[in-house]
Amino acid sequence: SKAQVVVVGAGYGGATAAKYIRMLSNNSISVTLIEPNDNFISCPLSNLVVGGEEKISALTTSYKGLTDKHGITMVKDMVTKVDPQKKTVTTKGGNTIAYDKLVLAPGITMNMASVEGLAQANAAGVTLQAWKAGPETVALHKQIADMPDGGVVALTIPLAPYRCPPGPYERTCQIANYLKNNKPKSKIVVFDANPDVTSKGKLFKAAWASMYDGYIDYRPAHKVVGVDAKTKTLKFELEDDFKADVLNVIPVMGAGSLVVETGLANMNNRWAEVNFLNFESTQAKDIHIVGDSIQVAPRMPKSGHMANQQAKVAAAAIVSELNNFPVNPSPVVTNTCYSFVNERDVVHVASVHQYDAAEKTFLPVKGAGGLSPEPNRMEGIYAWGWAKNIWGDTVG
Ligand code: FAD
Repeated sequence: SKAQVVVVGAGYGGATAAKYIRMLSNNSISVTLIEPNDNFISCPLSNLVVGGEEKISALTTSYKGLTDKHGITMVKDMVTKVDPQKKTVTTKGGNTIAYDKLVLAPGITMNMASVEGLAQANAAGVTLQAWKAGPETVALHKQIADMPDGGVVALTIPLAPYRCPPGPYERTCQIANYLKNNKPKSKIVVFDANPDVTSKGKLFKAAWASMYDGYIDYRPAHKVVGVDAKTKTLKFELEDDFKADVLNVIPVMGAGSLVVETGLANMNNRWAEVNFLNFESTQAKDIHIVGDSIQVAPRMPKSGHMANQQAKVAAAAIVSELNNFPVNPSPVVTNTCYSFVNERDVVHVASVHQYDAAEKTFLPVKGAGGLSPEPNRMEGIYAWGWAKNIWGDTVG
C-alpha cells in the first residue's frame, strides 16, 4: 500500500512540504494536509496592509492548487494531539489519522503571559499583535486609521529570536508612512527589547532619518512587562509608564503549541531541535519539523523563504527515506527578505547556508548574499516578483 505522510499546518513550511513530497515521489506517496484556515494568507507584505497601501485579498491564495493539481488531501481541522508511539494524529473534530512520516509546521505561538495584562487587553480588543496575517492585520490598520490626528501608536518588539527579524522595523516604516500622509501631527514610538535594530539596522535607520524625521521615536533596550487595557498604558522593566492611542504589543514567541505539547520543543522548552539533513526531530523518530518552530542554525532567520527552503530539504529526505534511497548529504538553502520602507522602495538582505558535516548544522556561506546599498524602487518590483513566485511555489 501507499506510504502515508501527514502534514500539520499549510503555511509557508507545511504547504511546501506537502506539495514537494507529492512532486518528488511522482505522486506515489499519499499526503494529507491538515489546516484550520480556508486560505493561505501571507505574512510577507502584510505590513503594507497595516499601513493601508494594500488589501489583505492581494495576499490571499486558495488551497485549490494543492488539492486539484497535486492530489493532496486537505482536512480543515486543528490537530490537538500527536501520538509518536502509535504514529497517529488526532484532530479537534475527532478524527484520528495514521502516518508513516509526520511533518509538523505549525509556525509560532505568542506567549501572551510574558506581558502582564496582555491576555485581558487582547480579549477587550484594546491590543492586537497582527503577527499572523489575517483579520488582525486589517483590524490594526483600522485602529490606526480611526486614531485622531495627533495620536500616538506604540509598537513593542520582543527579544530575538522571533518570527521575521526585520518585520517590526518594516512595520514601523509602514505606520510612519501612513501617519506622514494622513495624520501628520501623529507619531509612532517603538519600544525594542533588543539593544539595537536586529536586522538591516543601518538601512532602516537611514530611511527613518531621511523619510520620517519627527514621526518615529525609536527606543532600544526597552522591555515591556505589562499593559493596562483601561488606560492604554504600557509598563516597562525599568522605564516610566507610557500611554498611547494604539498599542501593537508583540510578545516573545516560541514553537507552535502542538510542537511544545508533543514534547519536541527541547531547546529551552521553546524551539524544536532537528537533524538538519532531514529535519527530523531529535526527540521523535519519523516526525519532521520545518519553519518557525525549529531552533534555527547560526544566522538562519525565521522567515517564510527559509520555511519554504527547509520544507524542500525535508521533503526530499522523506521521499528518499520512504524509498530506501540515501539522503542528500550536503543540502544548501538560501534566504531573501525584502522590506518596504514606504509604499514603493525596498531594501533586502540575502544569505546562503550550506550543511556542514563536521558541525552537523547549516553554516552561512562566506561571500554569498548581502544587503541593498539603499532603499530603491527596482527592489520594490523584485519584492512583488519574489512574493508571487513563492506563493506559486508554495500553494500553486
Ligand atoms: P506559518 O506560515 O505561520 O504556517 C503555520 C500554519 O499552521 C498556519 O496556517 C496555522 O493555521 C497552522 N497551524 C498551526 N497549528 C496547527 C494545528 N495544531 N493544526 C493544524 N494547523 C495548524 N518572511 C519572509 O520570508 N519574507 C518577508 O518579507 C516576511 N515578512 C513578514 C512580515 C510580517 C509582519 C510577519 C509577521 C512575518 C513575515 N515573514 C516574512 C515571516 C514568515 O511569515 C514566517 O517565517 C513564515 O510564515 C513561517 O512559516 P511556517 O510554515 O513556520 O508558519
